[in-house]
Amino acid sequence: MNGSRHLMPARDPAERIKNFEEVALGYTRDIAREEAARCLNCKNAPCMKGCPVGVRIPEFIAKVKADDLDAAAEILHADNNLPAICGRVCPQEKQCEGLCVRAKAGGAIAIGALERFVADFALSKKADASGAAQNSYKIKNDAQNDANVDFSGKKIKVAAIGSGPASLSCAADLARRGVQVTVYEALHKAGGVLVYGIPEFRLPKDIVFKEIEGLKALGVNMVTNVVVGKTLFIDELLEEYDAVFIGSGAGLPMFLGVEGENLCGVYSANEYLTRVNLMGAYKEGAVTPVLRGGKVVVVGAGNVAMDSARTARRLGAEVRLVYRRSRAEMPAREEEILHAEEEGVIFDLLVNPVKILGDENGFVRGLKLIKMRLGEPDASGRRSPVPIEDSEYDIEADEVIVALGTTPNPLIKNSMPSLEVGRKGVISVDGEGRTSIPRLYAGGDAATGAATVILAMGAGKRAAKAILEDLKVR
Ligand code: FAD
Ligand code: SF4
Ligand code: SF4
Repeated sequence: MNGSRHLMPARDPAERIKNFEEVALGYTRDIAREEAARCLNCKNAPCMKGCPVGVRIPEFIAKVKADDLDAAAEILHADNNLPAICGRVCPQEKQCEGLCVRAKAGGAIAIGALERFVADFALSKKADASGAAQNSYKIKNDAQNDANVDFSGKKIKVAAIGSGPASLSCAADLARRGVQVTVYEALHKAGGVLVYGIPEFRLPKDIVFKEIEGLKALGVNMVTNVVVGKTLFIDELLEEYDAVFIGSGAGLPMFLGVEGENLCGVYSANEYLTRVNLMGAYKEGAVTPVLRGGKVVVVGAGNVAMDSARTARRLGAEVRLVYRRSRAEMPAREEEILHAEEEGVIFDLLVNPVKILGDENGFVRGLKLIKMRLGEPDASGRRSPVPIEDSEYDIEADEVIVALGTTPNPLIKNSMPSLEVGRKGVISVDGEGRTSIPRLYAGGDAATGAATVILAMGAGKRAAKAILEDLKVR
């Protein structure tokens, strides 16, 4: 039945660790057509049930098969505001591709790779002087884009806090209905984790900026360098705007809680990646301090740990990743683990740091690790790590990057005490993103804890729908 899934072409590991250029090269037009021809165009489209934003997968793939890329782009953009990004970073194997009926017949259709191919085609075609990118597709698909009034004829204004995928997706859906949206971002560049977290070699920033330019062309107003809860308050926003969406993410890092974590040279993964991605520490002549070369130890085994380890490799370091469980329990995507291995990251499994060691000047010089064994499964279903008595040993390190997860920053909650939050400070919302406060909505990592781009986008879309319904936008 139409052969096996076409692999994504990738750059050679020995070459790619020398720079930050994108690792995955993308399909050619011929490969894309061949891969699209594998799709069975299933009537009930099980794959679509795995897509939080409801991309009409069989329809856009059928257009790729027919080599009608304009039509494919139009279908794609109708439901997905950031397809060039999702095609690159969605955990497709757990989402759409996880439900594809061809999984057992040559492999699931490479929906993500096809999405990336079509979105890149649209971006390259529309990257003209206006910078309007792919928006002609979006606007064409939206008959109501000039409806910006409620039933009483009043103009609708909405503010979004944070400029990650949750806010961008919410803002785009509102703007397409003619609502006047202003996004307030704490950092100096818009994009959230897409810009400051996910490294250039997985998601080129140029792609993110082009997608954001597309949203601006829809009329979304981006205001950077504003920390809501410090210089501007939610109360004030609720006075000025008809509704406010909180998409402030989960940027507060968790630490090990061991002695030595305050030594110079210990970073949270967020800080390390922000220095490199947002402040350009990887570029020649950059003024942002970050170690080049040396011995780097990354603690953790999720996607963020893999991104940190692969970034340090590109900065010339010998990189060890230490994890307290075994490879089978690593939370990172298999593809990320394989890429890290190919790039020479050393995995030290079943060990846990008990202390970070410093020198007489307060800089990191190593870690004290303890060996672990796997015990009974814990609440997460994974076998829990148990320390092996008297098994401590020391390793050298010039830099330690802690990648143990993140929670929402308490700033928003602290500045708005009446806002209900749940465990680990995640904002409590109903299924449509309504918070405990009227006209205040939330979604994405701020309301779920650290999750994924596509789940954040799905939440942003649901909140946009709820805002339109609650404000009775015509
Ligand atoms: P964010 O993207 O975190 O954006 C929130 C924004 O709000 C930030 O720009 C922040 O500066 C701003 N903000 C915070 N507080 C305030 C305030 N008080 N005032 C104004 N602005 C504020 N997911 C995937 O699907 N695939 C991946 O491959 C992947 N890789 C990842 C790699 C890394 C290194 C990290 C850290 C995460 C990764 N994720 C990945 C997770 C994904 O990026 C997040 O789930 C997603 O970005 C959440 O979107 P969001 O809009 O909720 O928040
Ligand atoms: Fe799949 Fe993500 Fe595209 Fe949806 S947006 S179809 S989940 S790759
Ligand atoms: Fe195509 Fe797979 Fe979706 Fe069927 S389930 S329509 S084969 S992508």
